[in-house]
Amino acid sequence: MIKRNTGFANLTAGYLFPEVARRRREYAASHPEAKIISLGIGNTTEPVSKHIASAMSDYALGLATPEGYSGYGDEQGNSALRQKIAEVFYSGKVDASEVFISDGAKCDIARIQTLFGNDVKVAVQDPAYPVYVDGSVVVGAAGENIGSGYKGITYLPCTEENSFFPDLSKIEPDTLIYFCSPNNPTGVTATKEQLKKLVDYANAKGCIIIYDSAYSEFIRDSNLPKSIFEIEGAKTCAIEINSFSKPAGFTGVRLGWSVVPNELKFADGSSVNKDWNRVMTTLFNGASNIAQAGGLAALDEQGLKDMKAQVDYYLANGKKIKETLDGANFKAMGVEAYFTGNGPYVWAKFPGKKSWDVFDAILDKCHIVTTPGSGFGPAGESFIRFSSFGHQADVEEACGRLSSFSM
Ligand SMILES: *Cc1c(COP(=O)(O)O)cnc(C)c1O
Repeated sequence: MIKRNTGFANLTAGYLFPEVARRRREYAASHPEAKIISLGIGNTTEPVSKHIASAMSDYALGLATPEGYSGYGDEQGNSALRQKIAEVFYSGKVDASEVFISDGAKCDIARIQTLFGNDVKVAVQDPAYPVYVDGSVVVGAAGENIGSGYKGITYLPCTEENSFFPDLSKIEPDTLIYFCSPNNPTGVTATKEQLKKLVDYANAKGCIIIYDSAYSEFIRDSNLPKSIFEIEGAKTCAIEINSFSKPAGFTGVRLGWSVVPNELKFADGSSVNKDWNRVMTTLFNGASNIAQAGGLAALDEQGLKDMKAQVDYYLANGKKIKETLDGANFKAMGVEAYFTGNGPYVWAKFPGKKSWDVFDAILDKCHIVTTPGSGFGPAGESFIRFSSFGHQADVEEACGRLSSFSM
């Protein structure tokens, strides 16, 4: 028989979100009367704007006509969309030839691991979005879980003590560094000074940064960088990955992009951009042309306005959750809630408690699904992530229930 990929054998526990879903299902089955509200998984809930949806519907109907029909598109994605992304998100700091259109950020993060193989050293912020670590384990760049984490992964704790920015000196030379800002799950956004330190460190030590900026459109503080390419020196050490999922409600539509600078090189001097082009054309066959028509509409004047309004809606939910977690009942438990207003998550510490115990207590007493912080890495223990993705009325109902929670 064929041997199982040892990477899969090394993966411990289930992927975080299926486990959350399993507990929710079990609870609902044994408590059919409970009206469960989810502040758990970061899934968008608000409808795609009419303007953007119409562009996709027009394109789809056009496919039924000889003039409107299109088959496979350009290898790296629709040229107009690549150009538009370079202009809108990078104000000319990035060339369209460095932009690759994809079916989403998570898919890009998974595919990008094939670029570095199983020999590469990996460092992640701890806590972190699970695919950086789990994907590394699958491709063999990380080994067994030794209790405190996977062998071959350097965990960089991001805690209250370091204001959620890691100690870079722990990163060995020639390491692939996953860095997410605004961060999932902590919500914290790195400042220009912090990113400059990261970029300088990476350039000095031969590291490459995979910069996940899926929440860049949530940044409201104009002093904070929305892209790592706002930082001098980033083009020789960073790849950026972003997506329409969160700002445009494209979680189900599927559209993202990556930026791989022409200047970025491997140790042998060869171009990372060229290999990435190879990955995108060999292992992937382009994003849906319907989704790309939606992406173009999202980046015109009306589309940008619509995305901003949608993000504002979620940020208002986040503010409401933060106010609730600042309430007297949570203060009595010693809870500290972090919300920056520049990301969709509220990250709350329940001192002395295990994340899954808090998760179960909130599900049982309030019928609210959250995400246990420990699922994002060892440093997430005792934390709970509250997501601001939800209908306003549900978030208000959830906050009402939470205001009398105790455990
Ligand atoms: C949601 C999310 C993604 C996934 O985006 P898709 O484009 O839907 O695949 C990537 N990174 C982070 C940090 C996310 O929270």
